[in-house]
Amino acid sequence: MRLATLRTPNGPRPAILAGDKFVDLVAADQRFPSSVRSLLAEPRLMSAAREIAMSSSSNGVPAKSAKLHAPVHDPQKIICVGLNYRDHAVESKMAIPKEPVLFSKFPSALIGHDEPIIVPSISTKVDYEAELVVVVGKRGRAIPESAAMEHVAGYSVGHDVSARDWQLEKDGKQWMIGKTFDTFAPVGPTLVTRDEVPDPHRLGIRLRLNGRTMQNSNTNQMIFSVAQLIAYVSLVFTVEPGDLIFTGTPPGIGHALNPPVYLRGGETAEVEIDCLGLLRNPVETE
Ligand code: ZN
Repeated sequence: MRLATLRTPNGPRPAILAGDKFVDLVAADQRFPSSVRSLLAEPRLMSAAREIAMSSSSNGVPAKSAKLHAPVHDPQKIICVGLNYRDHAVESKMAIPKEPVLFSKFPSALIGHDEPIIVPSISTKVDYEAELVVVVGKRGRAIPESAAMEHVAGYSVGHDVSARDWQLEKDGKQWMIGKTFDTFAPVGPTLVTRDEVPDPHRLGIRLRLNGRTMQNSNTNQMIFSVAQLIAYVSLVFTVEPGDLIFTGTPPGIGHALNPPVYLRGGETAEVEIDCLGLLRNPVETE
């Protein structure tokens, strides 16, 4: 099942992909809540949504022309993992971490498929990072690794846009401030439920800039698995339905190239993950 959040004149609406159309769930049935985040917390309504996805419907928005938010547009938390691919840690001249390296983004950084990434005027080193995003489906604290996958609603394609000058050249090297500019967290186009992704650690992951492949790897290169990450972060805080976990990026980031490559207005960034789809965002200058 593929869930999305539509942009409508009435605000964000949860939707489901039925064939090649998105069906507005609230329009289909008033029982549905007004956000995918709330829907994830209700297993009974998730089953009802699945039935709508199966039944052919003519009352949808064609997927090609739908305007989308990030699939969860209002998460409580966006948790990000740094240096989670072996080759990327080497490329960044950082030691392979023994425990996950964590930072966060604010929900104000989220955008959906086809929405523009804005390069701020106060950065000259805006970089790209293709990432698998995990969407939490069930609340939990101190979750054992063996039970962690039960807390996963599904997955999406993410782009951890990063201003390297703000991330690495400021006092204290505060990662968050370089990674949470508005529009620096594209996610989408849809949330693909866990049952459709038999193994999240065997997915090709690629990033193209203006059609040129810059990153090309596989999630089998991850240092910490999805279950290990959920177990680790839930030692510290409660994970909630709709929370997003960006799971780190493979090698090929622009900052590590010689000469370096940074995002510029007029370009198009595409992140593609097997099974999950293609997230495309134009780049604009502030
Ligand atoms: Zn990242």
